[in-house]
Amino acid sequence: MTELREFLHFIDGAYRPSASGKTFPVVAPATGETYAVAHEAGETEVDAAVSAARSALNGRWGVLSVADRIDLVISVADEITARFDDFLEAEITDTGKPRSLASHIDIPRGAANFRMFADTIRTISGESFETATPDGAGAINYSLRKPRGVIAVICPWNFPLLLMTWKVGPALACGNTVVVKPSEETPATATLLGEVMNKAGVPKGVYNVVHGFGPGSAGEFLTSHPGVDGITFTGETRTGEAIMKAAGTGVRPVSLELGGKNPAIVFADADLDKAVEGTMRSVFANCGQVCLGTERVYVERPVFDEFAARLKAGVEKLKLGGPSAKGVSLGPLISAEHREKVLSYYKLAAEEGATVVTGGGMPAMSGAEKNGFFIEPTIWTGLADDSRVVVEEIFGPCCALLPFDEEDEVIARANNTYYGLAASLWTDNLSRAHRVARQLDVGICWVNSWFLRDLRTPFGGAKASGVGREGGVHSLEFYTELENICVKF
Ligand code: NAD
Repeated sequence: MTELREFLHFIDGAYRPSASGKTFPVVAPATGETYAVAHEAGETEVDAAVSAARSALNGRWGVLSVADRIDLVISVADEITARFDDFLEAEITDTGKPRSLASHIDIPRGAANFRMFADTIRTISGESFETATPDGAGAINYSLRKPRGVIAVICPWNFPLLLMTWKVGPALACGNTVVVKPSEETPATATLLGEVMNKAGVPKGVYNVVHGFGPGSAGEFLTSHPGVDGITFTGETRTGEAIMKAAGTGVRPVSLELGGKNPAIVFADADLDKAVEGTMRSVFANCGQVCLGTERVYVERPVFDEFAARLKAGVEKLKLGGPSAKGVSLGPLISAEHREKVLSYYKLAAEEGATVVTGGGMPAMSGAEKNGFFIEPTIWTGLADDSRVVVEEIFGPCCALLPFDEEDEVIARANNTYYGLAASLWTDNLSRAHRVARQLDVGICWVNSWFLRDLRTPFGGAKASGVGREGGVHSLEFYTELENICVKF
C-alpha cells in the first residue's frame, strides 16, 4: 500500500501538525480514493496562526517600502510559474478537473493574481483636496491607504488556487497578513504555496494556512477570532450568512463572493454557433462547478428547438474522464456527497415534470475512474419557472432550457431570483444588448461571451450573491483602511 501524503498547517513560516493529532482524509474525486490526510486545526493552531500574522504586521513586513513589498509579491508569482507542474499535479489530483483546464486557467491565474495586484498597487494614487478656512489660510486634506491588518481568507473547492490567490494577492500587495482556511476538500495548493512564500523571501507569518472544516472547526475558530481584522470569503450563500454573523462581533468588515443561479438569454437574432459554443462552456466547464456558470437558459421561441438540438449534440460529444486522460472535457464532481446532492436534483427534475433532453443519471466508468464521482451532463426542458430545479443553485453539469417570447418578459424572468451574480446575453442587436444588460440585477453581465475576465474590473454579486466587489482597484475597498489627514496651513 502506498503511503498517504500528509498536509500540515503552515504557521509562521513553518509546517506544523495539529497539537491534537487530529487528521481527516483527502479524497481524489477522479478515483474516489483517499490519497492524503490533512491535519485538522483546533483553536490552538488558529490562535498560533493569527498571532503569527499579527507579529508579522508589527515586524519587517509592516515597515517595508511599497516598492520592496511589490517586488516580493512579484517573486511569489514568478515562483508559482517556476513550480507550474507541481501546482498543476496538486490541483488536478485534489479536484479531478481536466489537466487542460487547470493548465490554462487555474495555475496561470494563480500567478496572474499576484502580478495584477502588484501592478495595481504600484500605480495607484491617493486623493487630496485644498480646503478653504475662515481665516483665509486654508488647509489640505489628503488620504492614505493603509493595510487593514490580519485578514482571514476562507476558500471553496471549485478553483482552489485561483480563488485563494484572488484574495491573498491583493491582501499582500496592500500590506496585510493572512490566515487562509482552504476547503477541506482541496487542501493541496494552499499548502504548497507556503513553500513558495519561503522561497520568495516573504517574511514568516505573512502567509499562514490552517486546515479543517467550517462549523466547530478551523473555519468557525478563524472567523470568530478577535485577532482577525477582516474576513474575505468565497462559497455558499448560507455559509456567507454565518460568516457575516461571526463578523458582527467586533464589527469586522466582510467581502463575500457567494452563490448564483445565473441566466443566459439567447435571442433569435444571435449568432447561434457562438451562442451554443458559449452556453456549452458556461453550463459544463469544470463539470458545472463554477459560480459564474449558467443553470437557466432562456431561448427565444423561434430558435428554441434548433438551439436545444444543437446543445444536445454538443453535450453528447463531451468526453468524461480523469484529469490526464486524452481529450477529456468533463471531470468528476468534487465529492460523493456533492454527487448525491446533484443527483437529488436530477431525480427532482423528473418529479417536477421535466423532459430529459440528454443525461440525467450516472455514467458507467471503468478502470481507475470506476469509483470516481462522475455524473452525466444533463439538459432539461418543460420545467416551470417556480420549480426548485429552476430556482435553487445545483452546482453541477446541468441546465434547464426555458422558451420566451418577449424582451420584457425574459428580463423579468431572469431577474426573478434570490441571486444576482452573473448573466450572459446572446444577440446581434447592439441596442438590445445594452438595453437588456443594464436591466439585469447582476454584478457581471457578458454579451456574446462568457468568463471573459479582465482582472481590473469589479467582480462580485448583487442580491444574495455577495457583498462588495473585488478586482483591480475595487479590491482596495476591502484590503485597505483609508485614513484622511487634514493639515491646516
Ligand atoms: P461552502 O460555503 O460550503 O464552503 C466554503 C468554505 O467555507 C470552506 O472552506 C468551508 O470549510 C468553509 N465554511 C463552511 N462553513 C463555515 C462556517 N460556519 N464558518 C467558517 N467557514 C465555514 O462552499 P463550497 O461548497 O466550498 O463552494 C461552492 C459554493 O461557492 C457555491 O455556492 C458557489 O456558487 C460558491 N462560489 C462563489 C464564487 C463567487 O465568486 N461568487 C466563486 C466560487 C464558488
